[in-house]
Amino acid sequence: MTITGDLQASNILATLQRYWGYTSLRPLQEQAIHAGLAQRDSLVVLPTGGGKSLCYQIPAELAGGTDVVVSPLISLMKDQVDGLRQCGYPAAALHSGVSFDEVREIERRMLAHQLRLVFVAPERLLMPRFMDLLDRVGVRAFAIDEAHCISHWGHDFRPEYRQLAQLKDRFPNASVHAFTATATGRVRSDIVEQLRLRDPEVLVGIFDRPNLVYRIVPRVDVRQQTLDVIRRHREQAVIVYCISRKDAESMAASLGAAGVRAAHYHAGMEAAQRRATQDAFAAEQIDVVAATVAFGMGIDRSDVRCVVHAAMPKSIEHYQQETGRAGRDGLEAECILFYSAADAIRWEQLMERSSDGEEIDSEVQKAQRELLGHMRRYCQNVQCRHRMLSNYFGQEYKKDGCGACDACLDEVEGVADATVTAQKILSCVARTGERFGAEHIVDVLVGADTERVRRWRHDQVSTYGLLKGTPRKALTNMLYQLLDGGLLDRSDGERPMLRLNAESWAVLRGQRSVQLMQPVKKVKAAPIDDESWADVDRELFESLRTLRREIAEQRGVPAYVVFGDATLRELARVRPSSPQGFLNIRGVGQRKLEELGSRFLQHIVEYCSAHGLKLDAATGSRRRTRV
Ligand code: ADP
Ligand code: ZN
Repeated sequence: MTITGDLQASNILATLQRYWGYTSLRPLQEQAIHAGLAQRDSLVVLPTGGGKSLCYQIPAELAGGTDVVVSPLISLMKDQVDGLRQCGYPAAALHSGVSFDEVREIERRMLAHQLRLVFVAPERLLMPRFMDLLDRVGVRAFAIDEAHCISHWGHDFRPEYRQLAQLKDRFPNASVHAFTATATGRVRSDIVEQLRLRDPEVLVGIFDRPNLVYRIVPRVDVRQQTLDVIRRHREQAVIVYCISRKDAESMAASLGAAGVRAAHYHAGMEAAQRRATQDAFAAEQIDVVAATVAFGMGIDRSDVRCVVHAAMPKSIEHYQQETGRAGRDGLEAECILFYSAADAIRWEQLMERSSDGEEIDSEVQKAQRELLGHMRRYCQNVQCRHRMLSNYFGQEYKKDGCGACDACLDEVEGVADATVTAQKILSCVARTGERFGAEHIVDVLVGADTERVRRWRHDQVSTYGLLKGTPRKALTNMLYQLLDGGLLDRSDGERPMLRLNAESWAVLRGQRSVQLMQPVKKVKAAPIDDESWADVDRELFESLRTLRREIAEQRGVPAYVVFGDATLRELARVRPSSPQGFLNIRGVGQRKLEELGSRFLQHIVEYCSAHGLKLDAATGSRRRTRV
């Protein structure tokens, strides 16, 4: 490396340590930062939690002017700016919630070169007044966060992002750096084209998230199943994704009734209500948010330990992004999806309906169906989830058995006598004349006494009550598994009817056997769990969480911006007694040492003496490098 290269590298590291207390960059961060410093346009594709923000924060700091970050949501900007300020990093956000005086002050600080980053929404960026200001400031670089919002091939298209195409014309001397976690080729080239990036450096990270444990479980009783999962994650942050607003509300209500600190979140709520839920979650006043896809960008809480999908999302991109909100601190987290083929049917109906209402590009619709098909196959197949996801994003998965998914943990449980059960279900469809939907067939099989059963005299058919002992919901799920596997058909239209096909007859004649899945009784701990907890005093960790919550409350910031869980765990493992020992902990920067050091040290020392624990039990993982 050249002398200037060396100098630059050590400046980068010094900045990384001073503000964030980290010792090394991740591989693509380094390249992205160099592109930023060299003002070379770039497209950086890193999975959620991959560390995209440092890629524009560090160049901005080293360049010494004010760079601009375009961000789609006010809440997202606020959180970022809060987090940066806690680190002593000079940043501000301009949005509709900022008063005129504050705007003036921010503008003044930009002109005085006192701010390294200013966050703005796309529509604000393109206001003449702001563009003039940027001229006067001599803007150097733009970072476009969530850049996939510019593409209608993606899953989160925002028309206002389209205007960003003007940036290159208006500010030909500034570089543009796009960041996204969406990796499909089509979206990627759309971003480059729309933003008119010039010979961009394209950096695509590794999509696998080894700290996430993936599980797909047949959905039989989603409330109970979700509650069971949440009980595995007592007092930890959990997000439960639901398809509809109504589902989200009723899920939160039923969790609340079971004593869980839960709230709902969806786009139909007032902005203030949404913000309150988000804040309560960030401040650790609630543990669980049951939400629609609307809950996403903007929750930066890095210690989400579990993401539940109460139903299947409509694309692997959504799934990846939503599950990606778990374990952003790099520590183990669980992602569990309760699957029923009914979800795929429901999505198809929703897609049709929206296409009736407004003109949707048939190409876009086709793309949506393709995405849905991929998601469905992901759920149907019992194969290593890490491998399937990597492959979907065009990457090879080298490990043989991840040890962190239901398939590799051998948690998949088949139903005993599945073929016989399938025959019973299919023969009930046959006996009732192939004219009824799933609900009625299940009624007949469990021997329910409904008006419809009586009207059609289905209590007289030979399959009535044939599966009496099986819970309705479990039976419904099995029926949908038959549909999913093509062993049974379903007519289109308002009141779909179940119909037999050639495969159904092969099953009925005993010419083919059937496999049906059921939820496992007991899940295993993934091996990654042990590693990150090694030598950590869990009680001390919990008491540090409480301290963190208190500090966050006093400062009016989300708890995770005080310290991440990884830092708290390391504190509870190392148990430093001195400022130097504290500074050696990963995630402790200069500012945090000064402002928080004494409180945390005092807490640790007192706790250790009260519990007879050894202080300075190890050295922190953050070794000081020469600056
Ligand atoms: P993204 O925007 O890609 O989802 P973030 O930029 O929010 O991810 O980073 C995710 C987490 O990883 C944050 O808590 C961040 O502080 C942490 N992080 C980023 N880069 C590093 C690094 N080089 N070393 C340690 N932690 C890092
Ligand atoms: Zn696996």
